Amino acid sequence: MPSFVIQEKCDGCKGGEKTACMYICPNDLMVLDPVAMKAYNQEPDQCWECFSCVKICPTQAIEVRGYADFVPLGSSIMPMLGTEDIMWTCKFRNGLIKRFKFPIRTTPEGAANAYESLKGKDLESPLLATEEAENRAIPRPKELVK
Ligand code: SF4
Ligand code: SF4
Repeated sequence: MPSFVIQEKCDGCKGGEKTACMYICPNDLMVLDPVAMKAYNQEPDQCWECFSCVKICPTQAIEVRGYADFVPLGSSIMPMLGTEDIMWTCKFRNGLIKRFKFPIRTTPEGAANAYESLKGKDLESPLLATEEAENRAIPRPKELVK
């Protein structure tokens, strides 16, 4: 199910110009009501349920719930993002709570460079940036190879 904001928990990221959920959503779905200072998903139909906004929200005000056909109603899952790991709290509908913690980085926070491995690559090429021409499973027609 699409993300939804628990209004009582949202503090509008304390009035920042761009809230954390607005910053992270790959589909620009989260918006802030500047009067109520509460965020909301402006177009739930377009939500990819990627959990990015759920993970980044500092007050754990956003939830994404599984569909009832494979996740029992009444259950919930909530991540808590730390600087080195993420803790998932799974609440079962019978009240059982389980927590799972996973490491999330091998570099110091803020030090990762997503473009490091692409240095010197021809980003205008029709090949994927990580794809070597000679490794293609299906060779490209000669006229398309530069
Ligand atoms: S990130 Fe969380 S606290 Fe901040 S505006 Fe979005 S829902 Fe509210
Ligand atoms: S779950 Fe992903 S796509 Fe949906 S609102 Fe949150 S960040 Fe955007």
